[in-house]
Amino acid sequence: MRLTYPHMGEAYIAVKAMFDDLGIESIIPPFSTDSTLRLGAKESPEGICLPFKIMLGNYVKSIEEGADTIVITGSCGPCRFGYYGPLQKLILQDMGYDVDMIIIDPPKEGIAKFINNIRRLSGKTGFKTYKVFMDAYKICEKIDELNQVQYFVRPRTKDKAKVNSIIHNFKSQVLKLKGSREISNMIDKTKEELLSLNIDMDANPIKIGIIGEIYTIIDPFSNLNAEERLGNMGAEIHRSMTIRDWAENNLIKPLRREKPYEMEKRLSKPYLPALIGGHTQQCLGHAVNYALSGYDGLVQIYPMGCMPEIVSRSILPQIEKDYGIPILYLIVDEQTGEAGYQTRLEAFYDYVENRKRRLS
Ligand code: SF4
Repeated sequence: MRLTYPHMGEAYIAVKAMFDDLGIESIIPPFSTDSTLRLGAKESPEGICLPFKIMLGNYVKSIEEGADTIVITGSCGPCRFGYYGPLQKLILQDMGYDVDMIIIDPPKEGIAKFINNIRRLSGKTGFKTYKVFMDAYKICEKIDELNQVQYFVRPRTKDKAKVNSIIHNFKSQVLKLKGSREISNMIDKTKEELLSLNIDMDANPIKIGIIGEIYTIIDPFSNLNAEERLGNMGAEIHRSMTIRDWAENNLIKPLRREKPYEMEKRLSKPYLPALIGGHTQQCLGHAVNYALSGYDGLVQIYPMGCMPEIVSRSILPQIEKDYGIPILYLIVDEQTGEAGYQTRLEAFYDYVENRKRRLS
């Protein structure tokens, strides 16, 4: 069995650590590029959302490198994500690829089924699997910490190119490592490299929260590197959802029989008291939380045709009004042009920075 899984931001690092520690060979698809997206878009239903197309492109590239089994998380929520696995398997069959697809539903859909799926995949005892799983979760926590450091350093140093090269180097070098211990050490080393740069501790950059659909805010290819672009302009950004946050709320908390996303549901309740699929409540809850925490602006990113985020989009102007926080709305798909995207980010950055100066 040669496993593969789709790209979703830094998820490949924690998943690689987990499979390495379990002794399972896995093939990480090449980093997503325009050719990945073209490949996926060509075979996908026209109106399907962007993550579906990129993931399909990832699978084809991995299969061409020898993968025969795809692992993907599932969902029974009211949005298209629940159809991703079965539909992608049919498309791959039509393309002549005979691969297995293992869809791991989160524990909230049935804890016994979840544990059995993991055991089936690992072939190890429950205890060993649990330990490896928790080590991978710790990698997710460390990636969040590393990101916090880069978000802090980038707007406060003149050496932005160095920040970018340290992070890009980390993302590619980590592929050569094996297991959670080696990866963990490399994350620590990368953090130290970032902190050794010349940092202006008196700088007071504008703070921008990134909200929206989970895949497009986590995956830099799909959002045209929005975090790096804003950081290079001089903004300190914060990403509302991360792989760690997803794992905590969808895997760890249900296993501990704790309620997920409590803060997000509480703060979004006046605007949307019911689950409608995707991460709408999280998007709205984080928008309110950022406003209450003194952020200067928000950027909502979502794929063209994303049903849950269209609902967020229609509610966010009310939050903008209630809390006096400016929001930029960015829709992404395979037609998104880089120049127009950059111009909108720059215009928003200038607006928010001027506004902050006027108000202070
Ligand atoms: S949340 Fe949006 S982009 Fe993601 S699967 Fe659902 S509809 Fe598609």
